[in-house]
Amino acid sequence: MNFIKKVFSKEKRNNILYIVIDSARYDAAIRAKTPNMDNFGKWEKRWSFSSWTFPSHHTYLMGMMPHTNPQGVFASEVYKKDFVKWVERSGIDDVAFKNFVPHLSLTKFLKKYNYETNAMVSMPVLNPLTNFNTAFDSFELMDNHNDFAGMIEKIDFSGENPKFYLLNLGEAHYPYRLHGEPDVPILHGVHGVFKHLDDFVAEGEFREESDKFFNMEQMKKMQNKQVECIEYIDNLIGKLFEKCPKNTWIIITSDHGELFGEGGFFGHGPIFHEKVFEIPFMEGKM
Ligand SMILES: [Zn+2]
Repeated sequence: MNFIKKVFSKEKRNNILYIVIDSARYDAAIRAKTPNMDNFGKWEKRWSFSSWTFPSHHTYLMGMMPHTNPQGVFASEVYKKDFVKWVERSGIDDVAFKNFVPHLSLTKFLKKYNYETNAMVSMPVLNPLTNFNTAFDSFELMDNHNDFAGMIEKIDFSGENPKFYLLNLGEAHYPYRLHGEPDVPILHGVHGVFKHLDDFVAEGEFREESDKFFNMEQMKKMQNKQVECIEYIDNLIGKLFEKCPKNTWIIITSDHGELFGEGGFFGHGPIFHEKVFEIPFMEGKM
């Protein structure tokens, strides 16, 4: 009887596909023509817990979602509801906050229920040698910054166990390039600290970065380009949706926004500004 119950509950578990469009602003997602994503769900405005890639992704791997900034409630109540939502996302009965302790790790939680856990990331800061790579069966830093198409090729939902895929997409991140287009100025210092980690190891010091800050015309151009990058991602997402079995729960969001001149800022990271925390979010079952 227990065996039958176990097999039954395993069968109804959902695959989970977690797509993080790095740096995508909420208003860029709204502006972009995204027929495939619109067909799947509706963008909500959510708020990131962090303004930078690494801590933001860590929050997601705790099992927490970008929040709704609710007023008049205690934080603990919001967190509890967020964790209970994993019942619906995964199809695992009786999920509660206690299932995530003591590790507070989504991947460790999913492994307890026989999930195969996989990550494909674009940002070097999330490379497999960091402690972000915890309880993953496979973890790959893609060779190219903008290879969502390559990720889709590799995704495979076949096999006995339910699958978890975390995808960190680089297309909408600076320098917002598709297919190697060189039409925006490249400033290595923008995310160069981690891009040039190899230089540091080899030479013992980081390269001096002396590029000038962007002007407003350049920033406007890049802001428009980010919208175009989200449209490109949407086109590919249609192909990914076709690969997803019916029992796949899909989360699409960003890790933080991006500033294009507001308040004198460019980019994200060591910035406190509303637009760097405002992000798009949608989720649901295929
Ligand atoms: Zn990021």
